[in-house]
Amino acid sequence: MSRIAFIGLGHMGGPMAANLVKAGHDVVGFDVVPAALDAAAAAGIEIAPSGADAATSADIVITMLPSGRHVLDAYNGAGGASGLLAAARPGTLFIDSSTIAVDESRAAHDAAAAAGHRSLDAPVSGGVVGAENATLAFMVGGRDEDFAEALPVLEAMGRRIVHCGGAGLGQAAKICNNMILGISQIAVAEAFVLGERLGLTHQALFDVASNASGQCWALTTNCPVPGPVATSPANNDYQPGFAGALMSKDLGLAEQAIDLTGVDAKLGLLARSIYAEYAAGEGAGKDFSGIINTVRDQSRA
Ligand code: NAD
Repeated sequence: MSRIAFIGLGHMGGPMAANLVKAGHDVVGFDVVPAALDAAAAAGIEIAPSGADAATSADIVITMLPSGRHVLDAYNGAGGASGLLAAARPGTLFIDSSTIAVDESRAAHDAAAAAGHRSLDAPVSGGVVGAENATLAFMVGGRDEDFAEALPVLEAMGRRIVHCGGAGLGQAAKICNNMILGISQIAVAEAFVLGERLGLTHQALFDVASNASGQCWALTTNCPVPGPVATSPANNDYQPGFAGALMSKDLGLAEQAIDLTGVDAKLGLLARSIYAEYAAGEGAGKDFSGIINTVRDQSRA
């Protein structure tokens, strides 16, 4: 069993770190928010006075932070705080599970290597429920031998773990997947509103499309109208699920990657602007399938 420093004990990091304790690892954690520390201590995580203190004695350092800026600042130190990279023993394995831009992720890998460490990017999907139940999917970028070492640790927090390639390619897979998801959720919403205007019942459209070429996760799991899929957020006033703010963030990362690569991703960019508008209002805290209400509201009377 490893000694693991876990930095960022929020909605995702808190339950992920708790699952590492359950699997028998020795976990030392840090967060800048005191309430997160209290919950972590109750789950059996040793609390360090700072991130750097947590990293000093660790074999593996996992970060689960809001953005790329947070990750790079935590790695390198910011505002006078000492960084995780400088504090850790040479050769420590750094695993960043935050969702961040591919170029920021590669900068984090470069910084770790320059400091004499090894690193993986390992963003997740599956949300808070997946974090609590240790059923997350991990998309991992980095070297084969580092992936092999991390695998048993990731298996304590997740169910499906895919090695996507070298540095940054876990983030690339996450961003590409969520671009498909954002576009397809809008497509399903538009189809239901069009069906309504044409006189189709929700159930009839669902019965046809879910068994035809329109079939996709946004329809069969996250159906944006109440009724056909009892567990979809539409049946519960669009309580997330996956909040509009997070979809907007991930599509912003896709936009950065599109800019960087020059890909002609018209639908990805359109989805980015549609979800940015959704997340600027009350959609921020609603499931992203609630975009159907925007489609209805903005349709001609
Ligand atoms: P969160 O805001 O709940 O947790 C982030 C934590 O990091 C907070 O507790 C914050 O206090 C802490 N933090 C910030 N700076 C810190 C620092 N310097 N040192 C220590 N702690 C620090 O966010 P979350 O929902 O747990 O998401 C974390 C990451 O996972 C994000 O990148 C998000 O995009 C990604 N993600 C979230 C979900 C989800 O459903 N919530 C799903 C998949 C991926």
